[in-house]
Amino acid sequence: MHVYISGAGPVGLAAAIALAGRGYRVTMADRAAGITNEARAVGVNRNSLVLLSPSGAAAEIMARATLVRTARVMEDDRRLTELTIPGQKRRLPTLVALAQGETERVLLDIVQRHGIEVLWNFETTGLAETADGVTATLTHRTTGETREIRADYGFGADGSHSAVRRLLGIAMSERMVDGTWSVADAHCETPWRNEACAVLSRVGAVGFFITIGGGRYRLISNRPDVLTLASRHMTVKDVLQEGTFTVGLRVAEVMGKGRVAIGGDAAHTHSPVGGRGMNLGIADAFAFAEAVEDRDLAAYRAARLGDAQKTVALTDRAYRMLSTTNPMGLIARNAALKTAGFVTGLIG
Ligand SMILES: Cc1cc2nc3c(=O)[nH]c(=O)nc-3n(C[C@H](O)[C@H](O)[C@H](O)COP(=O)(O)OP(=O)(O)OC[C@H]3O[C@@H](n4cnc5c(N)ncnc54)[C@H](O)[C@@H]3O)c2cc1C
Repeated sequence: MHVYISGAGPVGLAAAIALAGRGYRVTMADRAAGITNEARAVGVNRNSLVLLSPSGAAAEIMARATLVRTARVMEDDRRLTELTIPGQKRRLPTLVALAQGETERVLLDIVQRHGIEVLWNFETTGLAETADGVTATLTHRTTGETREIRADYGFGADGSHSAVRRLLGIAMSERMVDGTWSVADAHCETPWRNEACAVLSRVGAVGFFITIGGGRYRLISNRPDVLTLASRHMTVKDVLQEGTFTVGLRVAEVMGKGRVAIGGDAAHTHSPVGGRGMNLGIADAFAFAEAVEDRDLAAYRAARLGDAQKTVALTDRAYRMLSTTNPMGLIARNAALKTAGFVTGLIG
């Protein structure tokens, strides 16, 4: 069995590990020159660790990651509560924090140990289904060289602007969350000992500060100036990187067609609240490998679409609750945040 994977982000790499673990041959390509260093995902949840455990990836992620034991919750300058994340003493904990680039490095290392080489700088530019397989056309981004890959199945893990999704003609529902969000990585000194801090307000602004090791914090806000917000709560020393992004709530109308499936951001995107995006995609990757083993991609499409719709709706509800400005909503939010159930339900 031979599978072609478009995209070597965390989801494509996880799919390669899941398929190689079953003894299948994998060819994968990515339009970038190598792994991302962008400030993106930081939370790896227990479900991902369970799935990545047999390959050894979970142990390597945990060796590098920070265990998120407690989270401080502020409403503006007032300390609202401190949450203890349940289940952190288990062998595979509820949540660990590691910069996405470092998670990808661990996954890539395992992919390479399986003898799979990523074709960097090659993008998927064509896809055709044949009677017994798929043919993908790859084009080198600088030289224009083209290659044809014939495989039994294909997996589009090529991100929110997925070429595979476009080539399959799959539409996506889309609703934008208002405004420009910001993200930064910085060395910070905090007056608290918690590994994470959520700063909420009565006017809709939210910020999340999460340790990513070595005195560095990942700072995220639904406003364009996270560094200003963070500076009110901690000492921000050198800023390593910063940027802005917009948040779209998107779900593909279907998670693939015929012998090709899509997963990860290619199939669904939502707000970073709850830290679910990469984790949901890793679950897609392992479900895809199982579907290939069962020769039943229809089961993948049905099960994963339901999960994507539920997660996008859950994170949207949570975001609206955290950023509410309604006086009754503020009382309900502050009460809900004092229970651990809210957080575990959200992290997944
Ligand atoms: C600020 C921020 C914070 C976040 N925090 C979290 C978090 O804490 N936890 C969490 O789980 N998620 C989080 N996310 C979401 C997470 O980053 C994404 O869900 C995750 O990166 C999706 O992985 P992916 O592999 O599907 O897509 P990507 O990471 O986008 O990877 C897609 C890959 O496909 C390649 N590609 C694109 N087009 C082609 C083509 N035509 N041919 C070949 N290759 C192609 C790209 O170069 C890229 O390498 C966050 C996102 C942001 C922006």
